[in-house]
Amino acid sequence: MSRVFNFSAGPAALPEPVLRQAAEEMLDWQGSGMSVMEMSHRGREFIGICEEAEATLRRLLAVPPHFRILFMQGGGLGENAIVPMNLSGGGAVDVVVTGAWSRKSLAEAGKYADARAAADTRDDGHTSLPPPAQWRLRDGAAYVHVCSNETIHGVEMATLPDLAALGCRAPLVVDCSSHVLSRPVDWSRVGLAFAGAQKNVGPAGLTLVFVREDLLGRALAICPSAFDYRLVADNGSMFNTPPTYGIYVAGLVFRWIEAEGGVAEMDRRADARAARVYGCIDGSGGFYVNRVQRTARSRMNLPFFLADERLQDDFLAGAKAAGLVQLKGHKSVGGLRASLYNAMPMAGVEALVDYLADFQRRRG
Ligand SMILES: *Cc1c(COP(=O)(O)O)cnc(C)c1O
Repeated sequence: MSRVFNFSAGPAALPEPVLRQAAEEMLDWQGSGMSVMEMSHRGREFIGICEEAEATLRRLLAVPPHFRILFMQGGGLGENAIVPMNLSGGGAVDVVVTGAWSRKSLAEAGKYADARAAADTRDDGHTSLPPPAQWRLRDGAAYVHVCSNETIHGVEMATLPDLAALGCRAPLVVDCSSHVLSRPVDWSRVGLAFAGAQKNVGPAGLTLVFVREDLLGRALAICPSAFDYRLVADNGSMFNTPPTYGIYVAGLVFRWIEAEGGVAEMDRRADARAARVYGCIDGSGGFYVNRVQRTARSRMNLPFFLADERLQDDFLAGAKAAGLVQLKGHKSVGGLRASLYNAMPMAGVEALVDYLADFQRRRG
């Protein structure tokens, strides 16, 4: 068996020990005589798996008791509709547009609410973060939406905005799909956070939602019952059948993170990985280029370009031959992208940096 280093933005690489354990337990989960996939979601075994996953996640991110953790379906884009259906009351929603994902959130919220951009970095090609003091926030907005890590443009908020300090009383909604569990969260600044699992958590199909208890019970009448946070919370994420296998694998990932040293260690590793790759790009004398302002650069998703884009196909073919896959940039921005999630070992980063240097030596 030979595994590649997978730099995909998502669905993305999972920690190898997690995949091994899932494989070992595939046919017979801990003497139950069945796979987790075959279990009733209301049975004792699965309830235990689900409760342990939630408890571990709560410990890892120090989620306070007045936040509920929901395991849902529909992905990040599903939440772009589910959030306004639950929280907007059909009123004003302010969205900070820092890249492709928050732009999608703005468009989707507009179907259910009076959604407007409080800031938009389109003019600089989404290579910066707009200072919160300059956001145009409306009095009485139902919530303010940010994407704390823009997966396509490679822009990341190192800290969440303090809306209260800006005189804004609206809850903050955070799409943290592509960097959840890579850094601690200041929950005092958050009303709701959501994350599709397939970047840093587990298989596609599971969505994590962290919601402050006082925000439950506000859904619009048109909101599907299965997506009403109040109903999902009251039923322990089992209002309808949850993505059981995804929750199980996510639980294994949570335990793996804890065993490795928790979110503080993931944070440290994310710094180390990103420093190594950005260092190589910035040190290439312009052969490789990343255009994002340094303080806004993502540690998880590193988009970059070859100054001579005609070399790109050769770059990708050579990378693949070296066991480094999924380095092509998103079609909307082109170029290259290396996603360095929690599961990417330092050996993968070193292999990438070696390849970058080698390719430049040969073709620079
Ligand atoms: C991947 C991603 C999404 C979309 O998730 P889906 O599960 O495909 O709906 C939303 N937001 C961000 C920031 C993402 O990275």
